[in-house]
Amino acid sequence: MKKYTAIILIIALVLGLAGCSGQNAATDEGTLPIVQSPSGEETPESTAGAETTAGKTTAAPVTTEEPSTEAPTTEEPAATEPATEETTTEESDPSQWTIPIWTEPATPEPTPEPTPEPTPEPTPEPTPEPTPEPTPEPTPEPTPEPTPEPTPEPTPEGTTTPEPSAGDAPLVCIDPGHQAVANEEQEPVAPGSSETKAKVADGTHGITTGIRESVVNLEIALMLRDELIARGYRVLMTRTSEDVNISNIERAQMANEAGADAFLRLHCDYGDYSSSGISIFCQHPYSDYNGFQYENSRRLSELVLANMCRVTGAPNLGVTEAYHYSGINWSKVPGGLIEMGFMSNPTEEQRLLDPAYRQLLVQGMADGLDAYFGR
Ligand SMILES: [Zn+2]
Repeated sequence: MKKYTAIILIIALVLGLAGCSGQNAATDEGTLPIVQSPSGEETPESTAGAETTAGKTTAAPVTTEEPSTEAPTTEEPAATEPATEETTTEESDPSQWTIPIWTEPATPEPTPEPTPEPTPEPTPEPTPEPTPEPTPEPTPEPTPEPTPEPTPEPTPEGTTTPEPSAGDAPLVCIDPGHQAVANEEQEPVAPGSSETKAKVADGTHGITTGIRESVVNLEIALMLRDELIARGYRVLMTRTSEDVNISNIERAQMANEAGADAFLRLHCDYGDYSSSGISIFCQHPYSDYNGFQYENSRRLSELVLANMCRVTGAPNLGVTEAYHYSGINWSKVPGGLIEMGFMSNPTEEQRLLDPAYRQLLVQGMADGLDAYFGR
């Protein structure tokens, strides 16, 4: 038995040595070229295969006809299957000595198709933020050429133009008394009268400053015009300049032809140093020409005077029926001649030159018209 045992041992040793040499003679395996680094570690390029088969105990069979599935098919065959030498362990286990048999290579786990690296979604080109249209610098509004204040056209003699105003609003004709140069030509003081007087008297002047009445009358009249337009009236000016030559009859006829609803004549008075207050001359009721307007003219004169005195605090010298004013006698529309103050009184003269006091006079006249027209 010992003899046989020895023989068996010898055979076993020979077979075992052959198995060991097989590991080193990898190329002999033909189908299982193993590439290893000198240190025994797999070359870097083989790591992928090594990962898939790590821990497998199956070895590439030398004797099987079926080539290892992994070896020839991989482009880098060396790395995929480290051949594991079973006999190494068998050597330490005597029970295996008589069975030096290569195990059938287990069906290799199918190498999973290398999961393709998920192609990263192509990062979309970051859409550039739409550049906002460059806001054009706001072009400054071209400064309009300063339009010169329209110089009021000098009212030609005998004609005038109604100031623009609201449609059916009352039309007020304003007559600034006198003019730059008096006109001593004569004209009938009343229709059918043989009595005559100057077409345009010279008027008075300031006791202290010497300012002409015609100038004061005109300046206040222009303020009244603006105030009435602001209140919605239509306004007709007999003149807007000193340089005119319009008789008193002609001024009255302007109001008549325009169909004015009121005719206010602006004047200043002259008395003595202490004379003060406001008065209005109104038509008399006995004229066949304009007597039909007496009640209206009286009422208008009373309302205007009362409001002027209320606003200014000036003494109310009352409404007086007049017979010698051609501008009143020839007017067929309600009206009155307003004596706004005494230019012979230095104190009152200064008031008549004061813009604030002038505005009070204007407000009083306008309030009187509002009362008359029920506005
Ligand atoms: Zn006058």
